[in-house]
Amino acid sequence: MAKILHVEDNPANRMLIRQVLELEGHTVVEAVDGPGGVEAAQREMPDLILMDINIPGMDGYETTTRLKSMAGLENVPVIALTAKAMAGDRERALTAGCDGYISKPVDIDLLPDQLAEFLGGRRETVTTEQEKRYLREYNVRLVDRLDQKIKELTEANRKLAHTDAMKSRFINLAAHELRTPLAAAQGYLSMLATPGSKFMASADPTTQEILHGVISSVDRLQGIVQDMLDVTRIEAGTLQLKQSPVNLDRLLKKIAAEFAPTVAQRQQTFQVADAGHIPSLWADGERVLQILRNLVSNAVKYTPNGGQIKIDVEITGVEGRRAQQFVKITVSDTGVGIPAEEQELIFETFHEVRRIEHHSTSKTGFMGGGAGLGLPIARGVAEAHGGSLWVESPGYNPKTCPGSIFHLILPLGDTPTN
Ligand code: MN
Repeated sequence: MAKILHVEDNPANRMLIRQVLELEGHTVVEAVDGPGGVEAAQREMPDLILMDINIPGMDGYETTTRLKSMAGLENVPVIALTAKAMAGDRERALTAGCDGYISKPVDIDLLPDQLAEFLGGRRETVTTEQEKRYLREYNVRLVDRLDQKIKELTEANRKLAHTDAMKSRFINLAAHELRTPLAAAQGYLSMLATPGSKFMASADPTTQEILHGVISSVDRLQGIVQDMLDVTRIEAGTLQLKQSPVNLDRLLKKIAAEFAPTVAQRQQTFQVADAGHIPSLWADGERVLQILRNLVSNAVKYTPNGGQIKIDVEITGVEGRRAQQFVKITVSDTGVGIPAEEQELIFETFHEVRRIEHHSTSKTGFMGGGAGLGLPIARGVAEAHGGSLWVESPGYNPKTCPGSIFHLILPLGDTPTN
């Protein structure tokens, strides 16, 4: 009794062969196309493979050639099944690596004995002369197909690039269109909220509270619109940096102060190293703050209440550059961590680790979501400085909380580093 893999796209044929072979006591495994057949053969290690020649994807000849080159499958007999019945089909099949040939429609009374022979060691052969001729024909056909596939891929790539450009244009346009009315709303709101304004004087505490809620929502919306603009600028390589000597210690103290209320609320400890000994950065200070805010708010978000967040700094070299020209800032946390397969993806535009329906609206609540723009922007800004940003984490585990470490490299100096 044998395990037989049947590669066939026609369901009725699969059903018929399965019934015949199972009646004989064989085990039947099926695949519906070439790539599926290769995958099933590797997984199942069958004793014999029945290969329909006319299948989608790779045809039966190509699939057989592939199978015969795979470890452990070289000696598994492959029997071609073909309905085309053209002169030379048998030779074509054998040249491609098949060990036998059965024409369709299959005679189900003969099939069990035919397969028993192949299982017993029978192998059909072609003469060297025939093999030469059909090998040449096979090569020409493969090159034709390759040529066709390359053309298709090139065209598909062109379409993707076009779609991607359209997406960027749309985001850019939407952000620009939203910016104007938002700025007007912010202006009116700040007029209302000015201490001592007529409105504030006449408003009861509930109304004032509502007003502040509206203001913070509009501010947040403004932040999202700004992120959308940043993303399109980074993608287009048009992000403008205003670089000058920047005191890192001052930036870090600012971040520590900004996040103090949030970490207190989450009962987290936030330890920020002294950077007084670090020379000036050659950087856009506002943009560096943007990166740090992003990293720290992520750390807060993905670390449970009571956890620890830490910023460390050290002077470092970068491969291919003069030593001591860069600073490495690390933001580490005792949070849920990041699975290995996500550690690069999180820096891709619009990639969010969790699905959108799980997003909470909170910016700092545990596991709160976002548009997935923060880290791509942070990396884009770091790279625009000639620096880099990446993450290390032992993996994702909300129970043991292995944590994450974000590494940010930025250039030092009071002139551009070259
Ligand atoms: Mn077919």
